[in-house]
Amino acid sequence: MQGLMMNAPLNISALIRHADRFHGDTEIVTRLVEGGIHRYTYSDAHRRSRQLANALASLGVKSTDRIGTLAWNTHRHFEIYFAMSGIGAVCHTINPRLFPEQITYIVNHADDSYVFFDLTFLPLVEKLAPHCRGVKGWVAMTDKAHMPESSLDLLCYEQLVNGHSDHMEWPEIDEGAASSLCYTSGTTGNPKGVLYSHRSTLLHAFGACLPDALGLSARDVVLPVVPMFHVNAWGLPYSAPLVGAKLVFPGAQLDGASLMELFESEKVTLSAGVPTIWLGLLNHVKSQGVRFGTLKRTVIGGSACPPAMIRTFEDDYGVQVLHAWGMTEMSPLGTVNTFKSRHLDWPEAERQALQNKQGRVIFGVDMKIVDDEGLELPRDGQAYGDLMVRGPWICREYFKGEGGDPLRDGWFPTGDVATLDQDGFMQITDRSKDVIKSGGEWISSIDLENTAVAHPDVHEAAVIGVAHPKWDERPLLIVVREPGATVTREALLAFFEGRVAKWWIPDDVVFVDALPHTATGKLLKTKLREDFGRHKLPGT
Ligand code: ADP
Repeated sequence: MQGLMMNAPLNISALIRHADRFHGDTEIVTRLVEGGIHRYTYSDAHRRSRQLANALASLGVKSTDRIGTLAWNTHRHFEIYFAMSGIGAVCHTINPRLFPEQITYIVNHADDSYVFFDLTFLPLVEKLAPHCRGVKGWVAMTDKAHMPESSLDLLCYEQLVNGHSDHMEWPEIDEGAASSLCYTSGTTGNPKGVLYSHRSTLLHAFGACLPDALGLSARDVVLPVVPMFHVNAWGLPYSAPLVGAKLVFPGAQLDGASLMELFESEKVTLSAGVPTIWLGLLNHVKSQGVRFGTLKRTVIGGSACPPAMIRTFEDDYGVQVLHAWGMTEMSPLGTVNTFKSRHLDWPEAERQALQNKQGRVIFGVDMKIVDDEGLELPRDGQAYGDLMVRGPWICREYFKGEGGDPLRDGWFPTGDVATLDQDGFMQITDRSKDVIKSGGEWISSIDLENTAVAHPDVHEAAVIGVAHPKWDERPLLIVVREPGATVTREALLAFFEGRVAKWWIPDDVVFVDALPHTATGKLLKTKLREDFGRHKLPGT
């Protein structure tokens, strides 16, 4: 017997329609790439999305067509998200920090018919265009007055939008249909496309808003620092209209001073970004002696949030850190670190240790850890193994079947090694390819990095395994000192004593001026292994 409830498909257009109807005067504020601040409302955004949808139709864009974006977090990018998915086309966000060859590969692999770009990326677009023959037009996301000189025959975003009426009804779309596309960064091999659906996007947006997830509400002012060009800014452009939160888009200026200015002027209550971004912000805040006036919570994820950073935010500035974990293949949210009621009475030190974990699994994501044979390991917070996930917003196959079937018995292998406990708290001990295998035991590079950055003279740290004749591998610590700091190898190694097991203490330290990062801000360990993999350890 079928239930007798309406069969309303979960469509992305419902989000912007709802925000327009019931939060129509709520603001969306943007720091423009061209300079200055732009301010309008959900109603305006909805109207312009419909104009853009009509403009796309006039360009011949049909449902299932892929359209690329190379763009910052702005109101125009937001309009594009809704216009493209709204008509059944696929919004393909491209990470401009990838190498041009990778971007060319991605644009061609996705068969993008148009690419929308911010002015910052014109030189990149001019480089790409000759190699992207399938692209019928490049759209500069600006107005007529700011249209640049170019060897290409560019389209102008504002002219496109303003040249069309807002008269249209969003079509009803099969909820399983593709809505957006994002390629993984692919530190090895070609990037692979993760193709989100209307249904997966809406369910993820609901999940993200839950009180023990990001706890978003109509009283929040949300500033996503995490880019809309990678994993849909962790879904915030969908979750914010779902609850009617005010949105603040930082555009191209992601330095501490610019962010702080927006936090204060727009009364931001919630933000989200990777640890490196917060490093810049905290340096600024400390050096200027300023405080957060309204910021209550900040989501930190993408790579492990150093415990020292959590303490600074919470103890020094009264800002709650929501340590979160996920991946492109998971839309991205999998866990968020919030307490259960019984943790509230725990001693401070134990609570802090719990908070350093990547978080607690949210409804919608099922999770288990397995050993090398694929057998499930206990959820006791001690055993660690390969982390597997499944659920309605988790990828089952890459775009065009790239890389074959990624699933194992219906579960997606995350490539992370983790512990899991009965409450659903998960802690990443490492990427499976980054664990250091020493004398048959595993050493967590993340734990060692976290310990190193707790030293006041350490700005950033990475740990890799280096070949050792007796132990197979031993840890090597690679450090960027704080400006002006002079901490020595010996002092740093002494700092580990009592903080980690004795046999975990790195065998050597190398000081460098900077560490390499991937296009999404993670430490690029493949490069570090290339550069330092043959480092001669003392005594070998
Ligand atoms: P990319 O496309 O660059 O791989 P993803 O965002 O998909 O970017 O990366 C996912 C991976 O990032 C996870 O599998 C995990 O290893 C790492 N990661 C994400 N969040 C955290 C976190 N809070 N702590 C530790 N690692 C994290």
